[in-house]
Amino acid sequence: MPNPKYDVIIVGAGPAGIFAALELSERLDLRVAIFDKGNAIDKRRCPAREGKECAHCQPCSIMTGWGGAGAFSDGKLTLSPASGGHLGDLLGEEQAQALIDEVDRMYVSYGADRPVYGEHTDEFELLEKRSALAGLRLVSVPIRHIGTERSSEIMTRMHDDLVRRGVQVSTRTPVARVLINGGSVTGVEVEDGQTIEAARVIIAPGREGADWLKSVAAELGLSLTCNPVDIGVRVELPATVVEPVTELLYEFKFLYYSKSFDDLVRTFCVCPYGEVALEYAGGVTTVNGHSYADRKTYYTNFALLVSKNFTEPFDDPVTYGQSIARLANLLGGGVIVQRLGDLESGRRSTPERLRRSIVTPTLRSATPGDLGLVLPHRHVVNILEMMHALDEVMPGVCSRHTLLYGVEAKFYSNRLKLTEKLETEVEGLYACGDGAGITRGLVQASASGLLAARAILGE
Ligand SMILES: Cc1cc2nc3c(=O)[nH]c(=O)nc-3n(C[C@H](O)[C@H](O)[C@H](O)COP(=O)(O)OP(=O)(O)OC[C@H]3O[C@@H](n4cnc5c(N)ncnc54)[C@H](O)[C@@H]3O)c2cc1C
Repeated sequence: MPNPKYDVIIVGAGPAGIFAALELSERLDLRVAIFDKGNAIDKRRCPAREGKECAHCQPCSIMTGWGGAGAFSDGKLTLSPASGGHLGDLLGEEQAQALIDEVDRMYVSYGADRPVYGEHTDEFELLEKRSALAGLRLVSVPIRHIGTERSSEIMTRMHDDLVRRGVQVSTRTPVARVLINGGSVTGVEVEDGQTIEAARVIIAPGREGADWLKSVAAELGLSLTCNPVDIGVRVELPATVVEPVTELLYEFKFLYYSKSFDDLVRTFCVCPYGEVALEYAGGVTTVNGHSYADRKTYYTNFALLVSKNFTEPFDDPVTYGQSIARLANLLGGGVIVQRLGDLESGRRSTPERLRRSIVTPTLRSATPGDLGLVLPHRHVVNILEMMHALDEVMPGVCSRHTLLYGVEAKFYSNRLKLTEKLETEVEGLYACGDGAGITRGLVQASASGLLAARAILGE
C-alpha cells in the first residue's frame, strides 16, 4: 500500500482499544485512529439507569461508546490472571501477571487510586478451610474497586490524553468491513461505505461486537472456536449477611461442582452495597450488577453462574443462552425476580409476596415471577445446591427472602485463532479484548490492547 491514511486503525473504544491507543500514541509520529459505533462518553445516557424503562436505544449506551462496556462498569480491577480471561494460558502466568500489574499502574495513574482487597492473609486461609468443608473452593483474586462513576471519569481522562497526543477519535462510526488484499490487511470500510486505508488494523469490538466479528471472520476465512456459555441468576440479599466476607475480600470468588450433575457453578461480580442493573445485548434483556464508590444501598448482589460447554454437533452456545434469556423476557416482559423461598416451594413470586420480603428489589423494573419456568431444571438444581453450600460459609444466604433475578448470562464470544502476539490469520490484522474471546474483564481486555499495540510497535 503506497501511503495509507493511517498507520493503525483501532475498531472499538472499550478498554482493549483505548489501551492499544495509549501504547501506540507514545510514538508521536504514528498516525492512529480509533472508531466506535457508540456515543461520545458525555452523550452516553441510559434511561434504565435513571430509573426509567429500558428504551432499547440503538446503539445501547451501556454497552457501546467511548469507554466500551467498561465506562459504566462497576470498575472492579481483577489483578490476577486466575480470573477475567485467557492471557495466563496465552503468555504463561508470570508474564500475564507482569502485564496485569502494568495495566493496574496505568489505571492508578489516571485516578484509580483505591485500596486493593482480597490479598492472601491468615483470615483468608481460615475462610478457605471453612469453605472446603462446605464443598466450595475459595479462589484468591486481588481486586481494586474503582466504582461506576469513577470509571467513566478515568475513561474521559484517557480520551483527553489521546486527543492531545493526536489520535483521531470518531464515535458514532460503525465499521462495516475489514479490507484485505493478497492476505494482508489494507484498512476498513465504515458503515456509510467510505473506505479508510491503514497499514495495520486492531479489532476490539467487545461482546457487543461479537456477531459483527463473526461475520468478519466468515468473510475473511478466519478460524473460530466455541467458548462455554454461563447462565444463572443474580442473588440479592442484605449486605450484613455477607459482610464478614466482603469486608475481607470485597469480591469473593467461590467455585462449586454440583453433586447432581458435576457442573461448575461459580460466584461472579459481587457488588457490595450495590444495585442490580439491566443489561441489553443481542436483542435480549439480562441482568447485571454494580456498586458506586460513594453511594451505598443496604444490599449486596452477586451472580451465580452455571458454566456449560457443548460438544459436537452443537456449536452455537450464544444462541442457547440468548434463548433462555428470551424466555424470561417473554414471561416477565424483561427480567424476572423471585424470592428464594418461592422458588423452593415451586410457586411464583407475586407483587404481594415481594412486599412481604425483607429485601426490597433494587431493580424496580423486574417482574415478580417464576424462574422455574425459565431456567433448565439442571441449572435450577445446580444453583440451589450452591446456595446451600454458601449458606454454610455465610449463614443467611439461604433465607427465603433472598431475591433471585434472572436471567444473568455471560455470552463469551467465539474465540478467534490468534498468535501469541494477537495477530489473526490475516497479516497486519490484530484482535484483542472480549470480542476476540480471549478476555472477560477490564484488566485483561486492557492488557490485551497493550499486547497488540506492542506487537505492531515491535514490527
Ligand atoms: C454492567 C457491566 C459491569 C461490568 N463490571 C465489570 C467489572 O466490575 N470488572 C470487570 O473487570 N469487568 C466488568 N465488566 C466487563 C467489562 O466491561 C468488559 O470485560 C470490558 O469492557 C471489555 O473490554 P473490550 O474493550 O474488549 O470491549 P468493550 O468494552 O465491550 O468495548 C468494545 C467497543 O467496541 C465498539 N464496537 C463494537 N463493534 C463495533 C463496530 N463494528 N464498529 C465500531 N465500534 C464497534 C462498541 O461500541 C464498544 O464500545 C462489566 C460489564 C458490564 C456490561
